[in-house]
Amino acid sequence: MFDAYADIPPEFWQSPPVWITIWCLGACWGSFLNVCIYRIPKELSVVAPGSHCFSCKKPVAWYDNIPVLSWFILRGKCRNCGAPFSIRYAIIEAITATLFLGLWIQYGPSWVVPCYWLMAFGLLLGSGVDLDEFWIPDRVTWGGILIGLPLSALVPALHGQETALQGLLYGAAGAALGFGMLWTVGAIGTFLFKKDAMGFGDVKLMGAIGAFLGMPAVLFTVFAAALVGSIFGVTMILLGKNELGGRIPFGPYLAAGALAWLFGGDALFEAYFNLISGNGGAL
Ligand SMILES: [Zn+2]
Repeated sequence: MFDAYADIPPEFWQSPPVWITIWCLGACWGSFLNVCIYRIPKELSVVAPGSHCFSCKKPVAWYDNIPVLSWFILRGKCRNCGAPFSIRYAIIEAITATLFLGLWIQYGPSWVVPCYWLMAFGLLLGSGVDLDEFWIPDRVTWGGILIGLPLSALVPALHGQETALQGLLYGAAGAALGFGMLWTVGAIGTFLFKKDAMGFGDVKLMGAIGAFLGMPAVLFTVFAAALVGSIFGVTMILLGKNELGGRIPFGPYLAAGALAWLFGGDALFEAYFNLISGNGGAL
């Protein structure tokens, strides 16, 4: 891994200059993510035209388009007409940047990191659109499956494997389990409640998560998302904020579960299986 850089001392990769660089890189991807969340549901191009004010239509200059910083420098207003820019843009940029850095600190330097960055970008994109519009774009869900499978072969370490074939098989098994599990949950829910309980976008999203992370991660993600989702759902009903029939987007819970897996969920899962299998038996 990174053999060409073998003479660079390993501690360099986990030093503040690298961390700051990666955080800034992540913030730029967060800026692009904002564009994608806004434009993809409207079927607009994500590359052209450049960013412009929604109110006065004036293009945003590069020096007013610096991720996270610009929002604070401009105090959340258009420099030209003073129309408000939502703080949400800066928040999404900061979340993306922090996630990118966190994944690097947890797994870098390794080829799994760019794979996880790509997946995190897709999960944030899917969550953002799901929160706004109650659906998840196909380029996140089908796209995630179509990219996750070849990546599993290219980077078998995603599944703790050595060869391309092993990686591909583990990725395919994860995708199949994710897809099948959520489809089954949805079918049972539809039978019980006599209405569509699970969006098909969630089913496909879980397939994509499985393709990247494999079967144990699917079990963890579905369980964690269902647990947190039902706690949140019941709380909202108790607070009278949401009638029972209200649709709660499930995509963000699945995304959060998958990211939690990457940040220690795997260790939690292993500890749990060791616990129920008696005295630390291997899974
Ligand atoms: Zn303006």
